[in-house]
Amino acid sequence: MEKGQISVQSENIFPIIKQYLYSDQEIFLRELISNAVDATQKLNTLARKGEFTGSVEGLKIEVKLDTDKKTLTISDQGIGMTGEEMKKYLNQLALSSANDFLEKYKDEGSGIIGHFGLGFYSAFMVAKKVDVVSKSWKEGSEAVKWSCEGDPSYELEEATRDEIGTDVILHINDEDEEYLQESRIEELLTKYCKFLPIPIEFGTKEIPVQDSDEEEDAEPKTETVPNQINNTHPLWKKNPTDLSDEDYLNFYDELYPYSEKPLFWIHLNIDFPFHLTGILYFPKINNQLEVQKNKIQLYSNQVYVTDEVKEIVPEFLTLLHGVIDSPDIPLNVSRSSLQSDRNVKKITGYITKKVAEKLKELFNQDRESYESKWKDIGVFVKYGMISEDKFYDRSKDIALVKNTEEKYFTLEEYFEKIKENQTDKNDVKVAIYTFDSEVQDSYVTDAVEYGYDVLVLDQVLDNHFVQTLEHKWDNVRFVRVDSETVDRLVSKDEESETSLSEKETEKLKKLFTEVLSINDNQFEIRPLPAESAPVQIVKPEFMRRMEDMQRLQSGQVPTHNLGMYQVIVNGNHPLISQKLINMRSEEKKQDFTKYLYNLALLNQNMLNGKSLTDFVKQSLNYASN
Ligand code: ADP
Repeated sequence: MEKGQISVQSENIFPIIKQYLYSDQEIFLRELISNAVDATQKLNTLARKGEFTGSVEGLKIEVKLDTDKKTLTISDQGIGMTGEEMKKYLNQLALSSANDFLEKYKDEGSGIIGHFGLGFYSAFMVAKKVDVVSKSWKEGSEAVKWSCEGDPSYELEEATRDEIGTDVILHINDEDEEYLQESRIEELLTKYCKFLPIPIEFGTKEIPVQDSDEEEDAEPKTETVPNQINNTHPLWKKNPTDLSDEDYLNFYDELYPYSEKPLFWIHLNIDFPFHLTGILYFPKINNQLEVQKNKIQLYSNQVYVTDEVKEIVPEFLTLLHGVIDSPDIPLNVSRSSLQSDRNVKKITGYITKKVAEKLKELFNQDRESYESKWKDIGVFVKYGMISEDKFYDRSKDIALVKNTEEKYFTLEEYFEKIKENQTDKNDVKVAIYTFDSEVQDSYVTDAVEYGYDVLVLDQVLDNHFVQTLEHKWDNVRFVRVDSETVDRLVSKDEESETSLSEKETEKLKKLFTEVLSINDNQFEIRPLPAESAPVQIVKPEFMRRMEDMQRLQSGQVPTHNLGMYQVIVNGNHPLISQKLINMRSEEKKQDFTKYLYNLALLNQNMLNGKSLTDFVKQSLNYASN
């Protein structure tokens, strides 16, 4: 037996490693299995080149637990190591890389993505002793065993192992016994190794067998087979032309079991100037919970790294699901340097471009189907257009708006459509919208009868989207249907006539401002179409937007601050110009005013917390007087 000292600068690196990465301890398993995969792939390569002439058929990796001996073993059938190689790789190389790693990133804390690069020595985060038994592929090699107890001394001795390959045996620390639990190991393997390219087996499982001469009510027979953790050929590595829709949907299910089907997907595949493969799925947005939960997973050569992809995928695309696999994303660096990394920037740009191209393709190929999915797609597109100028430019021709007749238009089409009828005196095209055509029915009906088209903008993002559009398009403005009385939604110069005399106007003003306790400037009499409601409440666009924004930021429920709104009386409505004007009793006049005002509140959905029943009762009271 040979004994020796590992040369270390800091006397004892292991406690530091352990403490340093404590929160991410579990990555040790990924690191060791990655090494096993590498070793296996190296043997495959040697075989392909003809340098290794043995069989490489069915090479696999096994993970074994021994709860009595308190060991966890990772066994591979890869190239193995000679004693000299062990000294070189495990003592010097691995340790110095661990040392470098700590030196470089000791201030970064958990900001390091995936902690790649710590490699073999991460074993000492959970093990008090590590044995490596290995037999090299090289002719005439004998098996050797290397042992280290987490201090700078090691032992090297002869060992018995018939097959080529390596066993890494971890003697688990007493305080880390969770790694001796089958369920915990299975969980980790599933998390990190689910798509590794070499079969990984952990324990066994029972599968049902078909028995031809099975008796009717005999117990269903099962067979014990090795429990393979991974799918060695994940879909994203395959050629898109060989894949059907069903393949993509099944893979989605494999990634996110029991989730609602995605709408469509993009298969990413690029070799230059960086390597990247992956599949991005567009989920249905209606299920907020799933959208948040099913995150994009980042892989490096099929090894799971993280599902925190904010730095790689633009914010608005983090709503997508799926996988991205790139060996070119630098993983052993901090998040902050990742953001400025040139490769990462290119990758981000590439993904954004691909997404925009896919959307364009869908739009051009089958507009009807595109429209039917717009409710969901729109969230990405709008979000992207709001947050990124480049994406705005790429998508402005495929962004849609829908009107109250459920017809869809591109922005260009829509502004063309309303040009003639809805251009105001300043040559600005005015798009009129509602957030809900049922809730705002009376306003919408008025506008439509007036000859206007009304858009439905009912998504949370629409407030921002409208502002982006106003900013990007020349001479375009959006006004909500209740921001003005119908005659002024699109301001033109023409004045229509009112039948009220000046005296009557003064009287009405006094009546309303007193009964409703509002200021003079919150009240106005206008000559509206006779069919338009007698009393109306309008919320000036500018004020309402400010209020909406504040509410969105503070998360408050809407309260109707009347100070911001205006009460408009329709001087042409018979209930005003004939009935109210001519009422004798002052009391009745006041009650009728309150009644008409209540109708206006109802139209604006401004019950301010009162129950609808109470509200109607109160209104009927006013009316019956
Ligand atoms: P890295 O994998 O980043 O090179 P590691 O510290 O994980 O660093 O491993 C150091 C070296 O030890 C590897 O490069 C490899 O040559 C060797 N090694 C580790 N594990 C195995 C294994 N299971 N089979 C063969 N060689 C291995």
